[in-house]
Amino acid sequence: MTQDCIFCKIVAGEIPAKLVYQDEQVTVFHDIDPRAPVHVLIIPNRHIASLTAVGDEDAAAVGRLLTVAGQVAQLTGVAETGYRVTVNVGRDGGQAVYHLHAHLLGGRRLSWPPG
Ligand code: AMP
Ligand code: ZN
Repeated sequence: MTQDCIFCKIVAGEIPAKLVYQDEQVTVFHDIDPRAPVHVLIIPNRHIASLTAVGDEDAAAVGRLLTVAGQVAQLTGVAETGYRVTVNVGRDGGQAVYHLHAHLLGGRRLSWPPG
């Protein structure tokens, strides 16, 4: 675990989160500041700072992350109406937490392109 990483602490159960799903590779929990009726975060359990830092050794975890995203969309009831899976990267991408995470947003019509 990387010290002072809030998402590592959620994976470890050291700070509370509304967990949706967890397995040996990924953890899914509700975003604390939801921007849509469904807004969950899907993260690898192992600390990876951003998409840019993903290496070949992370392929299984990143594949699992996307697989679980589709399953959680079904679980949360947005699979039929549609949803968006977004990874913000770096300053211009609006990344605030430097532990890789995918946002899953749904339950309302999402505009395109994002602001
Ligand atoms: P990003 O801007 O892509 O780095 O997104 C970070 C997201 O993490 C934001 O949508 C925050 O609302 C969310 N967030 C930050 N701290 C927590 C927390 N303790 N529990 C759940 N979500 C969080
Ligand atoms: Zn971390």
